[in-house]
Amino acid sequence: MRAEIISIGDELTSGQRLDTNSQWLAQRLTDLGIHVIAHSTISDDMAINVEVFRTAARRADIILCTGGLGPTKDDLTREAFSVAFELPLETYPEALAHIEKLFQARQRVMPERNKVQALFPSGSRIIPNPHGTAPGIDLTVTHTDHSARFFALPGVPAEMRQMWDETVQPRLIAECGAGQRQIRYATLKCFGIGESEVEVRMPDLIARDRIPRVGITASRATITLRIAAEGESIEACQEMMAPTIAEIRERLGDIVYSEIDEELPDTLFKMLQQRNQTVATIEYGEAALLGHWLSQAQDRYRTENSRHCFVGSISFSDLAQATRHGDADGNTQAVLHSVAESWHQQFDSDWIVIVGPYPKVHSTIENVAAGHKNLSDIAPIDFAVSRRNGAAIEITHKQVAMSGHPDVLNYRIAKAALDQLRYSLLSSSS
Ligand code: AMP
Ligand code: MG
Repeated sequence: MRAEIISIGDELTSGQRLDTNSQWLAQRLTDLGIHVIAHSTISDDMAINVEVFRTAARRADIILCTGGLGPTKDDLTREAFSVAFELPLETYPEALAHIEKLFQARQRVMPERNKVQALFPSGSRIIPNPHGTAPGIDLTVTHTDHSARFFALPGVPAEMRQMWDETVQPRLIAECGAGQRQIRYATLKCFGIGESEVEVRMPDLIARDRIPRVGITASRATITLRIAAEGESIEACQEMMAPTIAEIRERLGDIVYSEIDEELPDTLFKMLQQRNQTVATIEYGEAALLGHWLSQAQDRYRTENSRHCFVGSISFSDLAQATRHGDADGNTQAVLHSVAESWHQQFDSDWIVIVGPYPKVHSTIENVAAGHKNLSDIAPIDFAVSRRNGAAIEITHKQVAMSGHPDVLNYRIAKAALDQLRYSLLSSSS
């Protein structure tokens, strides 16, 4: 079964409001095993509405529309159905009674205009809207030998969702055979590799006709591999995906940091929790992301009686400030050692992550991206992870020249620092 989602409203096409209904409905339809083949977002324009309705009726079996069911002149959905499929509009007394009752309950006189909300294309069914004056329309149209079923709902997200839950989903299951097949997704999160490199390592995996299909997306330096399977049951989907997951894990190894859809700080926090170890972070330069991220992860995953695994963060404008005794003149290695030593003590932590300098994105990096400056104008970034082992500390340190899109670079740097801690945790015995 193929579905299309149509969102209607000038406020959506002009960018004043984000179309959140489509995402919500697409997830629900997918949960029912229905393939969503298209999202269309259109303005309150009659000709466009008619054209898009007709196109959807040809290519989809189920069409979910939201918006355009209000009482005002720019609400065109009813009329667009009537024009598109040559169906007269009829007043449905049951719908009119509901609207009148709502106005009575609110002790308001019903404006004449609201009567249009009781108009339905001939042959359609009402989708009740318990809390709103705009009932939905359930309309099946048949063109040559293809039947398409439209469910038109109001744009107000709360009303739309309730009507989906109470009426649309039950009808899809009982009357359209939805929910008999399952679509399930598995997610593998990767860091430390680019999108194209994933494809180089696994060219056959990203092929469009592969079953199960593997999709790849990149966001803020994190790569997400999404595996999709369709089957009779959830178990069948999982069985279908297992060999693919194993194959990816084999080819990418520890580059895969999680098998659930989470960000690196969450994974790290849980690893520390498992090991009952603590970390503090020291950042310098023009950003300070780790403290924020790790405290959020801690807020999400720390239970009431469990320990704070993230014990503190501190940020400086440069590394010299981080050396509390002012001995910033030595070589980087020695400075990092002294910084780590004093902050291990200060925070009483098992691990210290040191990263910096985050470059100044709003001139340097933008200039590098625009070709006005060279990569060598950006100071290389120091990444250090220090582990306290009794009285001694062990530091792994690397210096990396980094550049990239200004919107992403500092995220990549902070994630690279966490990733270094992740590898240290993986290779440490306890
Ligand atoms: P309408 O049903 O077109 O009168 O829309 C009523 C309200 O719902 C307006 O405030 C819209 O901004 C909001 N709305 C309409 N469509 C959507 C959508 N696709 N996603 C989120 N909000 C929407
Ligand atoms: Mg509207």
